[in-house]
Amino acid sequence: MNRENKRKAYANGYYKSHPCDDVFTCKVCGRLVVPSGAGSDHRNHCPNCLASLHLDDEPGDRSADCGGIMDPVGVWVRKSGEWAIIHRCRQCGHFSSNRVAADDNPMKLMSIALRPLTNPPFPLERIGELTALMGGDGSMI
Ligand SMILES: [Zn+2]
Ligand SMILES: [Zn+2]
Repeated sequence: MNRENKRKAYANGYYKSHPCDDVFTCKVCGRLVVPSGAGSDHRNHCPNCLASLHLDDEPGDRSADCGGIMDPVGVWVRKSGEWAIIHRCRQCGHFSSNRVAADDNPMKLMSIALRPLTNPPFPLERIGELTALMGGDGSMI
């Protein structure tokens, strides 16, 4: 079933009130993604590579026309302590935040969370110099 048919079958907002039970093949890593095991009603990203598709403007509404691949670009922690993934659309640049599912690949999540630390915007050797600038003595001794 292509997307146009699906749009006709389900009115806008259908997925907000109904659990999404789509089975889909991940366009990025090729894994077959089934809804069971997600621990939430909306399985909107691949548990293996965490990529998503730009189908929603609001989570679950399926009203976006873009359909681009959304890369997981960041992780943040909600007030409740629950982790969420920030996805960015390759095609249009749209950002969205999605709940982490129970069976999401924990190593992949960690690597996204750590990416800014392992890839600082300045050479690590310069940390001493930078802390000196901030008033620390910057010395390792
Ligand atoms: Zn995948
Ligand atoms: Zn998009």
